[in-house]
Amino acid sequence: MAGEPQADCLFCKIVAGEVPATVVRETETTLAFRDINPQAPTHVLVIPKAHYADAAALAAGAPQLAADMLREAGEVAADDKTAESGYRIVFNTGSGAGQTVFHAHAHVLGGRGLEWPPG
Ligand code: IMP
Repeated sequence: MAGEPQADCLFCKIVAGEVPATVVRETETTLAFRDINPQAPTHVLVIPKAHYADAAALAAGAPQLAADMLREAGEVAADDKTAESGYRIVFNTGSGAGQTVFHAHAHVLGGRGLEWPPG
């Protein structure tokens, strides 16, 4: 069922405390933790605690939760002092776009120059 924890989901396991993570922010509905393979000085993943496979499923099934995630992404950037220099929020959606973990997550990237268009 949409939103229910999935036994085989890495990020559900992080939410449950079964897999360790470097958590930087937590709310009732969201968790933010540092990416294990950072691509920039700031590289934090913001996830809903509830399981949705990707950003589109999240926006369709729980729009307020999607809004909570975006607000938290901005707070992460402010906490890491990247808000003034600029940062990027990325939702890889689908394996063709590089999504490897099928639990919705926003990458917050900052602390270095970011090229456009992305690769
Ligand atoms: P995606 O490729 O957009 O699905 O992003 C998944 C991200 O999760 C990648 O940037 C991985 O480096 C990151 N990742 C995978 N396992 C872990 C972990 O255990 N802790 C933190 N980040 C992880």
